[in-house]
Amino acid sequence: MPEQDCIFCRIVDKQIPTEILYEDNLCMIFPDISPAAKTHLLIIPKKHIATIADLTPEDEKLVGHMVGKARDIAKERNIDGYQLLYRVGKGGGQEVFHIHLHLMSDQN
Ligand code: AMP
Ligand code: ZN
Repeated sequence: MPEQDCIFCRIVDKQIPTEILYEDNLCMIFPDISPAAKTHLLIIPKKHIATIADLTPEDEKLVGHMVGKARDIAKERNIDGYQLLYRVGKGGGQEVFHIHLHLMSDQN
């Protein structure tokens, strides 16, 4: 269920204007608002899942799908070296509690 106070659910619902680079029935990709690298994209599921620690076995396919889409968009942009990062929990530096995969590269 989407959460009204979740910024990424609001992006999924198009309540916050965002440059959507890719979208399908399961996930979305958009640029990080405060990039930490030349290329810094976020891959998010449309389903609200607060943290990787909350994943159920049925969500594992979804996480695999997100990694595959990260690979695809990097390939489309001819980026052959990049980092993929999930921060988990406050102690892991997570600030937005709707899972998101960071794709970061010094290539663009
Ligand atoms: P994390 O620390 O892993 O939870 O990262 C949250 C990321 O979301 C940060 O890199 C923020 O810059 C990014 N972010 C927060 N709000 C937005 C937004 N409205 N659009 C794009 N990126 C955002
Ligand atoms: Zn959410």
